[in-house]
Amino acid sequence: MYNYLSEILYQVEEDIIENEISYVVSHLVIKEESNDGQYSLGTLELLSSKTRLIIFDLSENIVFGESESENIPAPVDDEQFGRLTTMENEVLIYYDEPIYFRSENIGWLRISRSVSHIIKTLTNIKIVIFTATPIYIFLATLSSLFLTSRALKPIDSITKTAIMIEKGDLSRRIITSKVNDEVGRLAGTFNKMIERIDNSFKKEKRFTSDASHELKTPISIISATAEEALNRSKGEGDYKKALKTIIQESKNVSFLISQLLFLARSDEGKESLNLEKINLTLIVESIVKQLKNKAKKKDIKISINFRQDFKLKGDQTLITILFLNIIKNSIKYNKNGGSINISLSKKDNNVKIYFEDSGIGISKEDLPYIFNRFYQVSKARTGKGSGLGLAISKEIIELHNGQINIKSTIGKGTRTEILLPLN
Ligand code: ADP
Repeated sequence: MYNYLSEILYQVEEDIIENEISYVVSHLVIKEESNDGQYSLGTLELLSSKTRLIIFDLSENIVFGESESENIPAPVDDEQFGRLTTMENEVLIYYDEPIYFRSENIGWLRISRSVSHIIKTLTNIKIVIFTATPIYIFLATLSSLFLTSRALKPIDSITKTAIMIEKGDLSRRIITSKVNDEVGRLAGTFNKMIERIDNSFKKEKRFTSDASHELKTPISIISATAEEALNRSKGEGDYKKALKTIIQESKNVSFLISQLLFLARSDEGKESLNLEKINLTLIVESIVKQLKNKAKKKDIKISINFRQDFKLKGDQTLITILFLNIIKNSIKYNKNGGSINISLSKKDNNVKIYFEDSGIGISKEDLPYIFNRFYQVSKARTGKGSGLGLAISKEIIELHNGQINIKSTIGKGTRTEILLPLN
């Protein structure tokens, strides 16, 4: 910046000198006094009062103007600007232009201008630059140090919290400032991530303990029945009874394990669909047929309403499990002499299947949790059940890109609505 400024300032002065030279040369009137090389010059005019003019003859003597310097440099034809210092210590730049008369060099004119004001200005700028720059750098360093330490403080807190979390304390959270800057957002995202990890750890812990509990009960029954049969049975009848119980409980364990396996596989994303063209109406009808006796025991009437067959691409086994779970629940949680209405219709690009029962219903408080694994409204009212049926149903629906919605009024009944895409 300094060099550029200096160049511009000197350039201005040099341009003025060049202008003055052209002006003087074009207005110069030369008369030959005699044949001995004496000339007289007419009135000499300059454009600016601050410009000085000296004229040298061939012997380099000043014939016009006054020399302001003791050691006056001789005129030269090098087409360059020279520099001299006057007796008053003023610095001038000058340019020598040869004067011709009838194509003969008869002397030189020297135009000069003071550049002391430029030197002074540049010196002042230099002082400002050399004093202000270090102060500026010092202040900039101080403020950037302050800003970086302020900006990095929350990151340090994130690191400390991350160390605590890494040691196993998932309940820790970063104390975030309310500022919505990059670090604030990072801390917020970090907290959300830890919240999710914490929740999924808790969920997994709960799942494992629920699963162990559910598995422990039938196994305890199996071992207790077997022990009792061994120690106290008196005849074939007792053994048969014990074996029946053992077989039933083994079936329960096996069913529970298959349910757990399904959930584990779908969590891992390994549960793949065996897609084929399936007829939903036929599946519903065959399940109702299969559960006829169960319904009859409670005097429950099941009706199916549909106007056409609904076919779509899906996994026959999984869709059967899904409808089986829902209809079984509608029977299990129904009143004696109740009813179940099943309806299939088309809604936009989906098949809408709803199951309406006149059963005991689910309370508003329990409704949000019924899809959770092992969630049972009340063990006492459900009797045998694992609380996995609806969780599995939801997984199956999600695998088919469908939707499930349950509405229920306690004491009146439950309506389960399922949407399955036709394409
Ligand atoms: P479960 O094996 O206990 O039936 P589900 O996951 O199928 O497990 O159901 C979860 C809970 O939701 C059940 O414990 C039951 O209380 C309630 N529930 C499900 N379906 C119905 C229904 N049709 N009527 C009343 N309650 C229901």
